Amino acid sequence: MSKALTTTFSEKLIAWHARSGRSGLPWQGNRDAYAVWVSEIMLQQTQVATVLERYPRFMKRFPTVKKLAAAQLDEVLAEWAGLGYYSRARNLHACAQQVMQEFAGQFPSDPILLEELKGIGRSTAGAIAAFAFHERAPILDANVKRILARLFSVEGALQDKVVNDHLWKLASKLLPSKPQDMPVYTQALMDFGATWCTARKPVCLSGEKKCPFEKDCQANLSNQVLSLPHKTVKAKSPEFDCDMLLMRSGNAILLQKRPSKAIWGGLWSLPESVWVAKSTPRKQAPSLKRLLVAALPDESPAVWLKVCKTVKAGPQIKHVFTHRRLWMQIWELNATKCLESENTHLKWVPLNQLGRYGLPQPIKILLQGLSLARGDDLKN
Ligand code: SF4
Repeated sequence: MSKALTTTFSEKLIAWHARSGRSGLPWQGNRDAYAVWVSEIMLQQTQVATVLERYPRFMKRFPTVKKLAAAQLDEVLAEWAGLGYYSRARNLHACAQQVMQEFAGQFPSDPILLEELKGIGRSTAGAIAAFAFHERAPILDANVKRILARLFSVEGALQDKVVNDHLWKLASKLLPSKPQDMPVYTQALMDFGATWCTARKPVCLSGEKKCPFEKDCQANLSNQVLSLPHKTVKAKSPEFDCDMLLMRSGNAILLQKRPSKAIWGGLWSLPESVWVAKSTPRKQAPSLKRLLVAALPDESPAVWLKVCKTVKAGPQIKHVFTHRRLWMQIWELNATKCLESENTHLKWVPLNQLGRYGLPQPIKILLQGLSLARGDDLKN
């Protein structure tokens, strides 16, 4: 490891931030651990431009950890709709309750305690501790891993435990010595990875800007910038088929609450069959009875067949998740009445109240696309 680089890194990075870092973001310069935590979770898998729009809205609706903890999970999921990765919203809600119950509503400053809270990993714990409490705690998100792998020519896959442990050690060694520098340093590290030492177009290769580390960066000196960090070959994500019932009765639609541990966990969606490995071409259309049995397995098909006489094939929608792709075949049904069910996971929802429910984004788009709900009805 280059000693010169280790001793000067934080100083140079902070100086770089003063010249070229991002500023004016609504969550910057905030020492309220709740506000920092919400922004960090929201930024995890969401683009900054989207967070700029959604973060103030979320904070207005849930301005304190107490308010978030007291909210219904459905309200939180509805507010989160469209941001994806819904486990983040479920964890935010559970974590807020944990902070209220175990820490009297105050986030702990110790990153080790923060890491024990629901949905907070080591890097996020480091960011909260650094921003809100000026703790000398490192962060190591994907951007930081890339910067460090290049600066110190770290070989091996980032998922490898030995490589990961090594990167954490480097991240700790590079921290500024003064705790009061931790917020700007942590922000600078995030900004440098997001805007200058990017995965595909790092500034040292474009020649447009002068990287402050170009003389020490091992990847730059050995012409390995684009080959570091080493990439792992990803297997092609599997594809699945499922059938979904778009059942209407008058101005109401039948929704089903998804199990909390499933994809889109806790959101309200259309009743659906079990996902099966995609078959091409798709087998012939199932009968109405088979569709009802597959999508409403806890219900008596005979009872539902009394109110649903016909079925019509609707659109097929493809949705890409991180690790899988889903093809949803929509089947449109009209029921003669809103048949009540003992199953609390089934609910007839008037179209003008859909906005109160957290819906998966493709379902929301489908309902808007079919003009079943005006855009206003789906806003929350
Ligand atoms: S020289 Fe290039 S690869 Fe190295 S830190 Fe700077 S931008 Fe990143």
